[in-house]
Amino acid sequence: DFTCGQIKSWLLNLSKLIQEKKEELSLYDQAIGDGDHGINLARGFKEVEQLLKETEDGDIGALFQRVSLALLSKVGGASGPLYGTAFLKMAAVCKGKKALSLQEWGLALTEALNGLKMRGKAEPGDKTMIDVWEPVVDYMVRAGQDLSWQKVKDIAVQSMEKTKELQARKGRASFLGERSIGHVDPGAVSSCYLFQTLADQLQ
Ligand code: ADP
Ligand code: MG
Ligand code: MG
Repeated sequence: DFTCGQIKSWLLNLSKLIQEKKEELSLYDQAIGDGDHGINLARGFKEVEQLLKETEDGDIGALFQRVSLALLSKVGGASGPLYGTAFLKMAAVCKGKKALSLQEWGLALTEALNGLKMRGKAEPGDKTMIDVWEPVVDYMVRAGQDLSWQKVKDIAVQSMEKTKELQARKGRASFLGERSIGHVDPGAVSSCYLFQTLADQLQ
């Protein structure tokens, strides 16, 4: 099982990666959006880093709830409410839990994906973060106990790269119509980081 301490390490590593890739993420957003995705996420995750320091190991649900509120209040844009919703849904599944089994991870991430879809109304193929979340979560649930974290990372990277070929149908990038083709979706890249760091932490 995965402990609260491991989950805190994951979130810290995710934040470090986002700070490191802040400019790169914003450049992807400059191509098909308004160029603030890296700035938005870096600001939100700085707040997450702060709360990680102040949160003792214990209730994973309570931790995810705090992360959700930090992202909701600090990230802004389209991605803030979306990532905030994802962590809020995970918080509900993980309420009172001090460790998570692989099966519970599958359940929590499924709920997060459903929350993302409900909130953003995007479908797979619309060139959003859903294009990374759906195949990764789908694989995790299907694989069950045979899960390979390397495969999680491979699917995350491949599905992120595939957003390049897609035309955006949701969010700012959709305003560009066909001109959105040929660029990766910034939210797909940040979601790829989320799953890469999760896999690195839990493997
Ligand atoms: P904004 O577009 O408001 O500036 P960000 O730049 O922080 O917000 O985030 C943009 C990302 O949010 C996109 O790359 C995409 O992945 C994601 N996104 C936007 N709209 C939706 C939606 N309706 N459903 C899912 N994801 C979305
Ligand atoms: Mg933006
Ligand atoms: Mg913006």
